Amino acid sequence: MDKATTHSDSLTVAKFGGTSVADYTAMSRSAAIVTANPQTKIVLISACSGVTNILVELANGVSDSTTRQQRIQTLTQTHQDVLDQLQHPENVQDAIYGLLDNIATLAEHAASATSAQLTDQIVSHGELLSTHLFSQILVELNAPAVRVDIRPIMRTDDQFGKAIPQPDTIKQLATEQLLPLLDNNIVVSQGFIGSNSQGVTTTLGRGGSDYSAALIAEAVNASTLEIWTDVPGLYTTDPRITSAAKPIKEISFSEASEMANFGAKILHPSTLVPAVRQQIPVFVGSSKAPDQGGTWIRQSVEEAPLFRALALRANQTMVTLTSLNMFHAYGFLAEVFRILAEHKISVDLITTSEVSVSLTLDQTDTGGGAPTLPLQVVEELSQLCVVDVEQGLSLVALIGNQMSDTKGSAKDIFGALEDHNLRMICYGASPHNLCFLINEDEAKDVVRTLHASLLE
Ligand code: ADP
Ligand code: ASP
Ligand code: MG
Repeated sequence: MDKATTHSDSLTVAKFGGTSVADYTAMSRSAAIVTANPQTKIVLISACSGVTNILVELANGVSDSTTRQQRIQTLTQTHQDVLDQLQHPENVQDAIYGLLDNIATLAEHAASATSAQLTDQIVSHGELLSTHLFSQILVELNAPAVRVDIRPIMRTDDQFGKAIPQPDTIKQLATEQLLPLLDNNIVVSQGFIGSNSQGVTTTLGRGGSDYSAALIAEAVNASTLEIWTDVPGLYTTDPRITSAAKPIKEISFSEASEMANFGAKILHPSTLVPAVRQQIPVFVGSSKAPDQGGTWIRQSVEEAPLFRALALRANQTMVTLTSLNMFHAYGFLAEVFRILAEHKISVDLITTSEVSVSLTLDQTDTGGGAPTLPLQVVEELSQLCVVDVEQGLSLVALIGNQMSDTKGSAKDIFGALEDHNLRMICYGASPHNLCFLINEDEAKDVVRTLHASLLE
């Protein structure tokens, strides 16, 4: 029996997001959650809340040196505040200040020339910093914590900013490098970051720590994955959009995957892919209120309601390609997708008519903002058809079960939205979702209206 199998009966991987490690108090609460469960042997954490945003700003190039210094000062203060409350700051102080110095040097480079590779190197510092502090807090609670650099284990390809992890290699590396530590230690490591085969730092895209935790849970054959955040579980919609949102006790992998994919920020879109592959139940809870319970995400659940939840994703880019040649012709779509594939443009939604096709561009990279179609791609596509690019749109997704097979459901959904202009409606391809684009400024109202009529 290999080690992975030995541990699988009782191994929990726990992930704590930015707000759960925002400062000393939050870190201490999260550390108490770790020590309360002897099965928790691997802890992956995010950067302290707000830190990644500042690092992204620096990585994009801040040319004014005073502004740059102010940003570094803010980062220094965040981490110094935690150091000040440790019993033994001397154990991690040098490491923290070494990393802060690195950031200053790299930010200066970024001010003269930015690149996706440099961005990943800079933003990785958030998690490198927070893990030093969190492991020291655990040590001060007499827990056998060791800090591990995840980069040599979290192997990815070279797509800086949205690197694709390689699960088979990660499993092998985790078996060699992580499992031997688990008998006597609690491993504290970084979410979000990894490295390519040359050892160069990469990141999995914004919010990627959830995905990291799922990949590591898969690699070590964990029995449970816990995602600790600032809300007690998955809600029927983002509780920031409406106070009528209700927590969900239990939800299937398929429904929760649709929620994550369609913008429920609480889970990175790819989080559930490794969990499904390895059938690892996922718990989502609040590190501020662990006793409040949370959501269990599993393969099979007791209830499969017609309407389950609503998700909202901002910053959509819609591309409409119109060609009279498309009418009764073959090969047009193939040519369009060949051009997109050649430029590694990933497409999200598609709708077609006789003479046009509309699509939205995928987005998860670290830079943020609405994705754009590079000029060269527009030029190549323009040889085939008229290209129209539109931004300022949001995507609303309704998640549920058997919606397209249930008589009357379309009437309930669209009836509630008769005052709004819906674009690119995608309905029927998946039994679990219906989605459409809407102008950004109407999006939250649309979610509130639909929530009130279908979920309250
Ligand atoms: P973390 O830093 O812990 O990863 P995030 O900010 O990435 O936390 O995700 C948690 C946030 O996700 C919540 O505060 C909430 O506003 C948002 N959210 C979006 N959709 C949902 C949903 N359906 N249920 C719960 N929270 C949601
Ligand atoms: N710190 C990274 C971010 O803010 C990753 C994460 O928190 O999941 O995007
Ligand atoms: Mg997150």
